[in-house]
Amino acid sequence: MNRRTMLKIGGMGLIGSGLGACSGHSWSVDRPMPELGLAPVRADWDRVIRTTVGLRPHRPSGFVLHAERFGETTVIHNYGHGGAGMSISWGTGQLAAEMALDHDSRAAAVIGCGVVGLTCARQLQRRGFDVAIYAMTVPPNTTSNMSLAGFTPTSGLVSGDRRTPAWDAQFREAVEISYRQLQLLVGRGYGVSWIRSYALSDNEPRARQGSRVPERAPLLPDHLRTGSTRLGPGEHPFPTRYATRRTEMRIEPTIYLAALVRDFVGFGGRIAIRSFAEPRELVALEESLVVNCTGLGARDLFGDRELVPVKGQLTVLVPQPEVDYGTFGGPGPSVGGLGIHMQPRSDGIALGGTAERGEWSLEPNREAMERIVNAHRTLFAAMQS
Ligand SMILES: Cc1cc2nc3c(=O)[nH]c(=O)nc-3n(C[C@H](O)[C@H](O)[C@H](O)COP(=O)(O)OP(=O)(O)OC[C@H]3O[C@@H](n4cnc5c(N)ncnc54)[C@H](O)[C@@H]3O)c2cc1C
Repeated sequence: MNRRTMLKIGGMGLIGSGLGACSGHSWSVDRPMPELGLAPVRADWDRVIRTTVGLRPHRPSGFVLHAERFGETTVIHNYGHGGAGMSISWGTGQLAAEMALDHDSRAAAVIGCGVVGLTCARQLQRRGFDVAIYAMTVPPNTTSNMSLAGFTPTSGLVSGDRRTPAWDAQFREAVEISYRQLQLLVGRGYGVSWIRSYALSDNEPRARQGSRVPERAPLLPDHLRTGSTRLGPGEHPFPTRYATRRTEMRIEPTIYLAALVRDFVGFGGRIAIRSFAEPRELVALEESLVVNCTGLGARDLFGDRELVPVKGQLTVLVPQPEVDYGTFGGPGPSVGGLGIHMQPRSDGIALGGTAERGEWSLEPNREAMERIVNAHRTLFAAMQS
């Protein structure tokens, strides 16, 4: 199993019947209350089925996307996507593939088989490259498989004071490409869908409340955000004063990454399990064009000391197909400054809310797990139905 990711199977209790929920609020016939019938999550300890841990590959100055020469070999770096790799990888993959077109060869090696490597490999294939992926681990044992995977392009990606205009331009182009690409995958077996999401708060939301990272909002043009609706007391079933509703993109990592692997192989790609310790091993590959998509692995492989792990974990409950919305925020303090959140998927209800910077351990943080499950239990027990 990947050194950087780990799956712990917890106890699994009885699977109860789903709750048919029905809002007790009044609503106008002219303006039906869309929150009618939101089913509460049953966040009980006997419904916990696993806790997964992943280390986000964070770089304070943002992802790296440029070419470098090692003798006869060109290495295009495409790594360091922080908490946003699931959201922006199609875009950085396309930018990397366009750099590759400057090279004479049409055979490329991609190092890494997480979401960044797979989408980059597909972008290269679309431009006529014959591609081989070399990676230490492949799905389902990558960090990408451990992500919550909302469309969160600015999440934990870059520190505000480290941004440069050149990086911002790359970022904006990458987000535009990814946002469009992910929309085209909705409903076609990729595990990508649109879902209602509620940002919960007792404080009156500011104009941009509902964004998970309001301080970074200027990075993201308005047309890359869906509109939001602020619901006040009595207009929603949650035990907070306000709930800001937004329709957001959701990616189910298990389905998505398996589909990307299938596509890659279906278009003639090859995958070899292999680990690299230093750049000269890449130079020895038969391909003279290499794309480095090793995520946190680039720290050791290329000596990038700026890369730092930001540990995140998800505790997953027995699936509840009737839960068709996500939440962000709620009662209780956050761990590492990240609010608690809930995302339903076909393989379970994911509960998250940790961002432990500089933490390399792949052991679940027991205290954080308890806090997150208990906070969600309190939240949904108090939800009106
Ligand atoms: C709890 C959690 C929640 C998250 N939520 C979101 C979210 O909502 N939205 C979002 O967009 N992102 C989210 N992320 C972030 C996202 O998971 C990462 O940005 C993304 O997975 C990074 O992808 P990657 O391909 O660069 O890395 P990885 O998935 O780690 O893939 C790296 C690949 O490189 C290989 N590799 C590394 N080193 C070597 C080496 N030396 N030799 C050979 N192979 C090597 C690995 O084996 C692997 O195949 C979340 C992450 C976590 C942990």
